[in-house]
Amino acid sequence: MTLFPEMVERTLGESIIGRAQTAGIIEVKCHNIRDFSTDKHRKTDDTPYGGGMGMVMTCQPIYDCYMHVKSEIPQGNKTRVIYMSPKGRIFNHAIARELAEYDNLIFLCGHYEGVDQRVLDEIVDEDISIGDYVLTGGELPACIIIDAVSRLKEGVLADSECYENESHASGILEYPQYTKPRIFLDREVPEILLSGDHAKIDRWRLEQAVEITRQRRPDLLEIHPEIEESLKPKPKKNKK
Ligand code: SAM
Repeated sequence: MTLFPEMVERTLGESIIGRAQTAGIIEVKCHNIRDFSTDKHRKTDDTPYGGGMGMVMTCQPIYDCYMHVKSEIPQGNKTRVIYMSPKGRIFNHAIARELAEYDNLIFLCGHYEGVDQRVLDEIVDEDISIGDYVLTGGELPACIIIDAVSRLKEGVLADSECYENESHASGILEYPQYTKPRIFLDREVPEILLSGDHAKIDRWRLEQAVEITRQRRPDLLEIHPEIEESLKPKPKKNKK
């Protein structure tokens, strides 16, 4: 639910998410809140009670838009209504996984100074933020969440391995990636990757991933100590 459906349609109509839509694996439907305004000028915002700068999105068009969206969702579908808001729970991979379990996600994208609290209280299950900064609208945040959740859906990526080893999915950050040519501006691809020894390559990648995580996000290694542990040599069993 947005005042700027084209922003979302254009963004999600490209590349992998665009192809997933064409293939019918996911469906993104944008509903223009303005189409539901009963105001003769199709107004969707008004000045804030109590004074202050800017405009606030009004309840009526959002509520009617929501009732329309809800009427299109089959009964019994697991559905969650999310208001994109800098006041919400900060989005991460674990939340993407949670959301991927739903049949339908309804995103409300705010604009201007935000949305009248009463309609939020009436329809929204949860506020989600994409970070501690303020954007002009909820459309880009909604696109980010739709992208992150969609790629967890079976069939969107060519192979689930594509995301299982990635940063955050594995619990830590990903190892560095290389492709052809073998030498670029005197920089060579690490020799081990050309060895053909997959056990050694896997170990090297894990060591690299742990090192990058130690440098950039040591907090992740504290959450997943078992990953670093797995690199330590196992004690040999005593022979009788
Ligand atoms: N006055 C609001 C406040 O201080 O919390 C900010 C309103 S913001 C200018 C307009 C809209 O952008 C919000 O209603 C929300 O939908 C969206 N938005 C802005 N920053 C966001 C963020 N970090 N995460 C998610 N949505 C955001």
